[in-house]
Amino acid sequence: MTQTAYDVVVIGGAVMGASTAFWLTKMQPGLSVLVVEQDTSFARASTALSVASIRSQFSTAVNVAISRFGIEFIRDFQGHLGHDVGVPSLGFKENGYLFLAHSSHGAQLLAELAEMQRGQGAATEVWTPAETQAHFPWLNVEDLSAASFGPRDEGWFDNMGLLSGLRAAAKAQGAQFVTDEATGFEMTSGRVTGVQLKKAGLVGCGHAVNAAGTRAAVVAGWAGLDLPVEPRKRTVFVIDAPNARHPDAPLLVDSGFYLRPEHGGQWITATVPDEDGPCAADDFEPDLHLFEDVIWEQLYHRAPGFDAVKVVRHWVGHYAYNTLDQNAILGPHPDVPNLMFMNGFSGHGLQQSPAIGRGIAEHLLTGGWQTLDLSDLSIDRIIAGQPFSEKHVV
Ligand SMILES: Cc1cc2nc3c(=O)[nH]c(=O)nc-3n(C[C@H](O)[C@H](O)[C@H](O)COP(=O)(O)OP(=O)(O)OC[C@H]3O[C@@H](n4cnc5c(N)ncnc54)[C@H](O)[C@@H]3O)c2cc1C
Repeated sequence: MTQTAYDVVVIGGAVMGASTAFWLTKMQPGLSVLVVEQDTSFARASTALSVASIRSQFSTAVNVAISRFGIEFIRDFQGHLGHDVGVPSLGFKENGYLFLAHSSHGAQLLAELAEMQRGQGAATEVWTPAETQAHFPWLNVEDLSAASFGPRDEGWFDNMGLLSGLRAAAKAQGAQFVTDEATGFEMTSGRVTGVQLKKAGLVGCGHAVNAAGTRAAVVAGWAGLDLPVEPRKRTVFVIDAPNARHPDAPLLVDSGFYLRPEHGGQWITATVPDEDGPCAADDFEPDLHLFEDVIWEQLYHRAPGFDAVKVVRHWVGHYAYNTLDQNAILGPHPDVPNLMFMNGFSGHGLQQSPAIGRGIAEHLLTGGWQTLDLSDLSIDRIIAGQPFSEKHVV
């Protein structure tokens, strides 16, 4: 028997679920919204295991626009919203991203993308190798053709601060949060009419939202739908390099690794594993060999100050990896129109959460995209098998 019915039931209460609940209850006070989260420690959620960085340097205009709103939201949050919910600062560190190009084709691409990004309000600059070295003398630029740098609106911030702030604000606006595991749907005439919860039983819903991160395909399966999203393991290393102390360094994206400063003079670095493929959602075994075998040599080549390096700690997180095009999958499915997807963010979902939560909320309330046209990212392209690729996937 169906218990209490909600206008919207959100499955997954990390950053995407919380952002959706925040925007829904902000836009329509009185709407009944239930957010179901199985593990409120978030110990295994991508949100908690993120490198938590934000950039304007994407290759698609929609992703630039999404992150441009993300930065606006973070600043606003630090300005007033966060104070109201006890999260006064997200510790935004505006050091910029530095993308490196190694060929004339790469340099041309950075120049074209920078122009597109500036058209969206970003401040991306493209530098020659000499200019790059003048800004960051500790870099070896001899094999570079160009670099692009965002002098404002790019950097990193407190992921858990954003999450707890969004949850607290959504709660204050009337959203309900429950610790429980969703295990299935009640389907009636091609619509989701209830969400089965392990402890609370069947909960009725007007709409259901799939914000289940790496488990998104499981949730889609309850409605008989396929979703090309799978967990992919990423091992992140925190390193100490006594001869490389550059706290003002940007987030550096080289061809085989990325690197950014961390508190206390340390650094964070990671790479894409050599054999990148799906893993079990509960496989958190680190690929420790990646630092020694893949990252270190390239890092030392790029910055000789990394001659002596100690791995201080590491952690493993999972991308909810969209195998078609590594981009977000958004909106309702035509076959189950009251099931809303917000999945497949791969490596860039944290920064997208303010704009995506707002977009999903607007779609739920009005039946279409409003403030930002997110149709490039709609699930229709997945059904049609037509990739909408992002070239700057980190
Ligand atoms: C190593 C790493 C580095 C990253 N770096 C960046 C970065 O620099 N910038 C950036 O923007 N993004 C980054 N990302 C990506 C970003 O963290 C994610 O895209 C984003 O956090 C996804 O949020 P989410 O809410 O969709 O998923 P998650 O945070 O994974 O949350 C999904 C939630 O759903 C819950 N859930 C699942 N199934 C059920 C169920 N059946 N019942 C109840 N609850 C359920 C889970 O417990 C979980 O809490 C990184 C990710 C990783 C792993």
